[in-house]
Amino acid sequence: MNLLRTVASRALPRLSGPSVRHFSAAAVPVPNTQPEVHYNKLFINNEWQDATSGKTFPTINPSTGEVICQVAEANQADVNKAVKAARDAFRFGSPWRRMDASHRGLLLSRLADAIERDAAYLAELETLDNGKPFAVAYTVDLPFVVKVLRYYAGWADKCEGKTIPIDGDYFCYTRHEPVGVCGQIIPWNFPLLMQAWKLGPALATGNTVVMKVAEQTPLTALYVASLIKEVGFPDGVVNILPGMGSTAGAAIAGHMDVDKVAFTGSTEVGHLIQQASGSSNLKKVTLELGGKSPNIVLSDANMEEAVEQSHLALFFNQGQCCCAGSRTYVQADIYDEFVERSVERARQRVVGNPFDLKTEQGPQVDQEQFNKILGYISSGKREGAKLMCGGGVAADRGYFIQPTVFGDVQDDMTIAREEIFGPVMQIFKFKTLEEAITRANDTKYGLAAAVFTKDIDKAHYVSNGLRAGTVWINCYNVFGVQAPFGGYKASGFGRELGEYGLESYTEVKTVTIKVPQKNS
Ligand code: ADP
Repeated sequence: MNLLRTVASRALPRLSGPSVRHFSAAAVPVPNTQPEVHYNKLFINNEWQDATSGKTFPTINPSTGEVICQVAEANQADVNKAVKAARDAFRFGSPWRRMDASHRGLLLSRLADAIERDAAYLAELETLDNGKPFAVAYTVDLPFVVKVLRYYAGWADKCEGKTIPIDGDYFCYTRHEPVGVCGQIIPWNFPLLMQAWKLGPALATGNTVVMKVAEQTPLTALYVASLIKEVGFPDGVVNILPGMGSTAGAAIAGHMDVDKVAFTGSTEVGHLIQQASGSSNLKKVTLELGGKSPNIVLSDANMEEAVEQSHLALFFNQGQCCCAGSRTYVQADIYDEFVERSVERARQRVVGNPFDLKTEQGPQVDQEQFNKILGYISSGKREGAKLMCGGGVAADRGYFIQPTVFGDVQDDMTIAREEIFGPVMQIFKFKTLEEAITRANDTKYGLAAAVFTKDIDKAHYVSNGLRAGTVWINCYNVFGVQAPFGGYKASGFGRELGEYGLESYTEVKTVTIKVPQKNS
């Protein structure tokens, strides 16, 4: 699914020129701007529970800075309870372990159906808690969530082992078995999507789950928990804990009875997760971390497409994408025109109330991110990058930031090296292909990259030279549930989505049976 094209095709008239920049309301229902919150407790063993400590924390509406509601705050004791429930659900002979693989698939399909039924409400809740435009939540996030669950539902009874012709009189085969109790720690930028990316492969392969959702955006995951119960997953198979990273998250990462942890978030916390595994039980770890992805525009590229895609590569989701194209390298002979058009496009970006269907950009998720992004904008100015537009706050309340473009960015500037995670575009100039590849790879990250050119030979050459888990050619942010996604280098390891996404949720067991020979 092309995250960007989906918005365009389902909610937008085709972007035909710089003047058409807003959503059409056609396919999108009018949202309820004050969706009711039904669930705000911990979900353990298919029951709603208060935190053992009785503690709660506020979840904030980023459009206003106001508290939406209080949410139960899990700590170590609650993680222990959830792990015990998940362990019990995973016990040999339990209903979950004895369930037909095809029935696991059916439950995942039913979950997808229930989410589809409640898609408008879930999109409203996502917009309220996260700040992303409702039209995007409804036409991009929700359909992708449903597709991921349906895709992995299909895999549930297709995880086949092999028969292996080993030497001697033996029959040897492999079984792909679930890893066990999986800790899953997810971020706030795509709360529903990240939940589905993690639950789909874990449940298809028969694992049980203790998931910690991000403290900024706990509400939609809890609603999905209610659907998990509704469609009939057995007790303890999925446990969902809102809470803080340094307490609940760390308790999962260091738990002696968790078999695997899958984490999506910052590289900084990725280090901690890996260390916690090493100093506890060597649980398996998969990490999907940060990025500073290069987007290389060659002088023969289709200018209009390259400008639009490069704009969306960076600004989509308020710039809060781990794969954001946050280093735009433009070949010298088209640099001036590209910068001029990109600035024009950024100026036209519609920033405002995310429930308004015309809005392209809502608020950043919280005060902390808002402050951090403004800090990076200051550092860009201080270190000599050329501020071409934006650079300031976009509203007098909430966490809105103006779409910002920096030109003449140099590779050693802070804004060129660190992940900003906000609506701030960096444009660099380059001369040769070799130079572009070398500079693009000069980063600790390796999540994604893109190249825009009409020359297929150059496209392949650059793509082969880029050290990144995903390379897009003449497009950006194109995701398929069938295609793997994950990082090289400090962007993590392991892959999510597609068949590859099943690997980290299965153990391979080799079974060897002696076959007595006739007359022996
Ligand atoms: P961001 O800075 O974008 O919020 P984080 O990496 O801090 O990204 O957060 C991603 C997820 O990791 C969230 O659910 C958060 O609560 C969790 N987290 C943060 N710190 C830790 C930690 N020390 N151990 C485990 N999980 C953590």
